[in-house]
Order: sequence, then C-alpha cells, then structure tokens
Amino acid sequence: MHRMPVVFIGHGNPLNAITATRYSKEWRAIGQALPQPRAILVISAHWYINGLAVTSMESPRTIHDFRGFPPELDAVQYPAPGSPALAREVQARLAPHEVAADLNWGLDHGTWSILVHLFPAAEIPVIQLSLDRRQPGAFHLEIGRALAPLRAEGVLILGSGNLVHNLAAYRWSDPAGPPLEWASSFEQWARAAILRRDLAGLATWEAMGSTARLAVPTPEHYLPLLSVLGASDENDRIDFPVEGFEGGSISMLAVKCEAV
Ligand code: ZN
Repeated sequence: MHRMPVVFIGHGNPLNAITATRYSKEWRAIGQALPQPRAILVISAHWYINGLAVTSMESPRTIHDFRGFPPELDAVQYPAPGSPALAREVQARLAPHEVAADLNWGLDHGTWSILVHLFPAAEIPVIQLSLDRRQPGAFHLEIGRALAPLRAEGVLILGSGNLVHNLAAYRWSDPAGPPLEWASSFEQWARAAILRRDLAGLATWEAMGSTARLAVPTPEHYLPLLSVLGASDENDRIDFPVEGFEGGSISMLAVKCEAV
C-alpha cells in the first residue's frame, strides 16, 4: 500500500467551504494530487478539550460549530462514514495515554470545511482525534510520532488549523491585504524551522516571545501542525502547496510531507 503523505491545512474562514476562493481551489488541487487514502484521521483546532478522545461512531455528524454565518453554511453536510476499527487502532497506538472512545462529537468545521474540497465525494471513512489542551507542544509532536505507522496502512493524517491565527488583529477593511509584520515574521521563522526539521524548536514556539504571543495567542490552531510534523520523517520532501494570509493575521499556509 502507498505510504501516505501527511498534510497540514490552514482552514481560515469557514466560508471557504462554500465559496470558490483561491484557497478552496488549491485544496481541490491538493486532494486530486494525493493518493487515495483508506481512511482519514483529522486533528482539528476545533476539538480542543481536557484529554484525548477519538470519534468512534459509525456515522459522524457534521457539526456547525460557529455562529453568524449564512444559512447555506449551516446546510453543509459531509456524510463520510466513521471507522470504529481505526479509532480502536489509534487508541492502541497511543497507549499508555488514555484515549476516550467518543460517541458525541463528529466532524467539526475545521475538518469538513477542507474535506469538502479535498475529498468532495465524502466516501472515505473519517475519524477525528482531539487536542489535549492540558499538554505542551512536545506532547503533540509525540502523538504524531506514535501515529506515523498509520501512513504505511494508507491512512491520511491531516491537521487543520492555522500557523498564525489572531482574529483580534484581523483587518476586516483589507482581508486580502499583506500580512502584518509580526505575522509574516513568525511564519518565516516557522517555515525555516519546518524545512530544517527543527521540531523541538517548533514545539517550543513560545520562546519566540512577543512575536509568538501575537501569532499564536491561543495554541489550538497551531498544535495540529506539530502532530502532523511528528508523523513526518527525514525521508519526506516538504512542500508548501498553499501560501497566503487572510486579514493580515491568519496564515493560510499548508504543509505537505511526502515520501520521495
Ligand atoms: Zn478555525
């Protein structure tokens, strides 16, 4: 079976799900270039809880976890099947960490707003793994390392967040404008660290001080990147198939690590 790439996508505005933006077009192109996975394991910024949990139901619901968007967005469904068997395998691979078998969550907008473009048919089984908010960056790297063997089993490990995510600084008057200085500088630092595989440096991003505090005011949109990189290795070629900023303060950078 094909060893699957690992991918991190900057999801940005949920409206990308139903709008033909440059980002949604580029996500379609990424999906078309990927080998067909047997199943997809998503780590989304929007499931950030006290503990690890994995969705374990046969048919995960589509969760509309936002407010103030048009009814067309609330109408979006992504009816992919779940995979209780893969959820059990994830629990086993992450032992001795305890991973709850979740029957309540489903697919949040961090997951479906990109999957509607990456895999529009919604036929491939999808499970989500939570982010444990009590844990530091190094833990999220370690989770990725423990999940890396799934790549050889045809499982696509997909992180959904944003490398830089500061909604308070978002420039509503100029959403397509250039990045703010600190946003650009943090992204450049992270890109260089990704390319030289400085995973320990990326896991301790807080050491970047005020730039990091502005770029990553809360960690949930950043952490999925660490798990994706944890599942990568030195044999992977690293690409950035999507680049750009929204509102000057949201990095839309995508990272793809693929065995060569
Ligand atoms: Zn988000």
